[in-house]
Amino acid sequence: MSVRTITVLGSTGSVGRSTLDLLSRAPADWSVHALTANRDAEGLAAQARAVGAERAVVADEAAYSALKAALSGTGIEAAAGHAALCEAASADNDIVLAAIVGAAGLGPTLAAVERGTNVAIANKETLVCAGDIVTAAARRSGALLLPVDSEHNAIFQCFDHDHPERVTRIIVTASGGPFRNSSEAEMRAATVAQACKHPVWSMGAKISVDSATLMNKGLELIEAHHLFPVRADQLEVVVHPQSVIHSLVEYIDGSVLAQLGTPDMRTPIAYCLAWPERMATPSERLDLAKIGSLTFEAPDLLRFPALQLAMDALRAGGSAPCVLNAANEVAVAAFIAGQVGFLDIAAIVGDTLDEIDAPDCVTLADVMAVDAAARRAAAQATGRRLT
Ligand code: NDP
Repeated sequence: MSVRTITVLGSTGSVGRSTLDLLSRAPADWSVHALTANRDAEGLAAQARAVGAERAVVADEAAYSALKAALSGTGIEAAAGHAALCEAASADNDIVLAAIVGAAGLGPTLAAVERGTNVAIANKETLVCAGDIVTAAARRSGALLLPVDSEHNAIFQCFDHDHPERVTRIIVTASGGPFRNSSEAEMRAATVAQACKHPVWSMGAKISVDSATLMNKGLELIEAHHLFPVRADQLEVVVHPQSVIHSLVEYIDGSVLAQLGTPDMRTPIAYCLAWPERMATPSERLDLAKIGSLTFEAPDLLRFPALQLAMDALRAGGSAPCVLNAANEVAVAAFIAGQVGFLDIAAIVGDTLDEIDAPDCVTLADVMAVDAAARRAAAQATGRRLT
């Protein structure tokens, strides 16, 4: 591979750290333009020094002086704020890896797409709240969206991109999360630590809670709808607790293609980084005989109403997914802060969807307005449920 320039948005997070692990294994192949974080200035500066980044950017301007001090004497430029994030994303990169958590990733991710840079996208909330805008920008600029999410990466690898009409169904697998076999009473009393203890994957707090409510799977259905030319009714979820099959694509002749692997995010990240080639990773190899059996079950939409809400938002269209996402971000933050219970998360999202109009959004400003209105309504719904 010739030397390629990369910017990693959200480098201090779980996906960001896995990405840097891969880059550091082949330093001669990569030139790091910028790394970004929200406010972890120390962690970001250490990463920037380790990979020799040109620039390090914190979103939170209050963290700028700490970043500047930590980079003093290194020659690495420090910057802060939303505009600086967008500037790093729209610089002359060969690829941008988008791993900011939440709708906060939308602006910088869109900036990279508009520039025409290929984006390895982990930041699913960006596609959930503004998928039409981001994919239209990609068509205009020629940017390719390479899915990092393991399920979408599996679909991308199995999908016949030249003949999408031959695909009849996409089956997205779900581990079922830590409460797959829990009673409603157990879920009502669930702690943050229990919700974040994912049975298979090690991830950031927000996506771990989303996996526990199954909202993550709902967000992924919406993400899949934007990444692949399929209708909402062609998307299905199956619970597969071993997380060995990462998703499946069914064709008109009944053939079903699947991608398998051990649950290690470095595999789908490496696929995106090396595309259209392949690169080696240290991921544990799959040993099917050791695993023994793979099991499957239908998701329980009654015990996990968040998945039903997301499926309804996908079918409703307009900005319903944006409302769903914003409300979920507010509710999950309140749960993590100990303000509401686990079952309140889906209830807050449901209340917000009932309350907010979800008009079609044409511009980014439209999306931001709906997002802000949904956050206000979700904060009020949260206030009514404070523990
Ligand atoms: P983490 O919470 O571990 O990391 C989030 C990153 O985003 C950090 O670098 C954080 O900086 C930064 N960040 C947080 N808030 C802001 C903000 N307001 N503005 C700018 N940057 C911000 O998340 P994950 O790595 O787990 O997930 C990242 C994305 O990837 C999510 O969209 C998630 O759904 C998706 N994803 C994650 C997977 C995983 O295995 N973790 C798998 C598939 C998808 P700081 O450190 O300073 O807070």
